[in-house]
Amino acid sequence: MTSRPDALVAGGGPAGAAVAAHLARRGRTVVLLEQNAAAHHKVCGEFLSHEAVADLERLGILVDGMGAAPIHAVRLSGRKQIAACELPFPARSLSRYALDEALLAVAARAGAEVRRSRRVDRIESSQDGWLARFSNGQSQPANAVFLATGKHDVNGHRRPPGKQSNLVAFKMHFRLGSPQRQALHGWVELFVYPGGYAGLQLTESGDANLCLVATRALLRRCEGEWPALLERICTSSEALAERLDGAQPLFLKPLALSSIPYGMLRAQSAPGLWRLGDQAAVIPSFAGDGISIALHSARRAADFYLRGASSQEFARSLQADLRWSVGAATGISQALVAVPALAHAARLWPPVLRLIASRTRIPAGALSDLSGSESRICL
Ligand SMILES: Cc1cc2nc3c(=O)[nH]c(=O)nc-3n(C[C@H](O)[C@H](O)[C@H](O)COP(=O)(O)OP(=O)(O)OC[C@H]3O[C@@H](n4cnc5c(N)ncnc54)[C@H](O)[C@@H]3O)c2cc1C
Repeated sequence: MTSRPDALVAGGGPAGAAVAAHLARRGRTVVLLEQNAAAHHKVCGEFLSHEAVADLERLGILVDGMGAAPIHAVRLSGRKQIAACELPFPARSLSRYALDEALLAVAARAGAEVRRSRRVDRIESSQDGWLARFSNGQSQPANAVFLATGKHDVNGHRRPPGKQSNLVAFKMHFRLGSPQRQALHGWVELFVYPGGYAGLQLTESGDANLCLVATRALLRRCEGEWPALLERICTSSEALAERLDGAQPLFLKPLALSSIPYGMLRAQSAPGLWRLGDQAAVIPSFAGDGISIALHSARRAADFYLRGASSQEFARSLQADLRWSVGAATGISQALVAVPALAHAARLWPPVLRLIASRTRIPAGALSDLSGSESRICL
């Protein structure tokens, strides 16, 4: 057991597990604290962009070997189908249940000490570094802290609100009827309706993941009830109703998440505190790039840390990488929720979907300018 590691990582999602693996591979002592005891489902569309797939490969995770479903095209629907086109890159779909466990296993194999059922209650700076405090009164010191608790804020380190913070997210897996499963194979489908939007795609099990957002106003109209919400959305979107006709829900109730700060992007951090993934930037979910951002932030943070740069330099650099894609995605998300009819503009020129998919990614230049030594080690 490491008494005072070089790095303490709070949170074992994609960002935390990836940074733990990168640092441990370079010989740093790392302790990762994850609140959950075992694999579990998470609110997520489970779309893996090509950058995410490449970052996972660097870590030794081959998603095709895990049965990830291929995705090559996108379909946009309102009440009925509006537009469809090929994606500008090959993508994949893999459940977070499988992905996050694979990443934690990589971190452990790299030499990080992964502690499960360990919820960080508070993070404080101390005279000679940082201290993570637990609810049982115990604490863990470290020289640096990598804050990767994703959607959950740790006491003393609340994130600012995003530019679009009025949405509540839900996720449910469904077993589709055979014709619907075949129609969905290879596609990610986006459905726009008054008060939100939804994404549907197959995962490695052959079941479909429906992940959607709804404004609080829409949720109130449905009295906060999932069946009423789903029924209302299906009434607005015949295309989604057709896909879900006869589908069997696979969870007892949907997973839900509120207060998502879409558009949040932090350029500042305290010395020795490295904010990663959703703690650093939150891109609206329709873009399907949050996992990629989490993995990229981990790789960039490790790179900066290992060459002795400060956490503030890292935060500024990450903000520069993500400013454009997060800004563009947030503007589109706000417009779609405020005026869903705007989606019909895609009928005039369907390749606009390709353009949006390209412009809501991390720019290629930002992905390639990490130091060679770090990349070589990871391969
Ligand atoms: C509706 C919706 C749909 C999305 N769809 C997609 C998509 O299709 N594709 C995509 O790429 N991105 C998508 N995203 C974004 C993506 O889910 C996130 O960007 C990504 O999960 C961020 O990874 P992370 O490691 O920062 O955080 P997380 O994945 O949230 O991981 C954080 C981890 O920290 C742990 N933790 C939290 N608090 C504590 C604590 N106090 N102590 C110890 N451990 C703690 C949690 O248990 C968790 O394991 C979506 C997001 C939403 C809201």
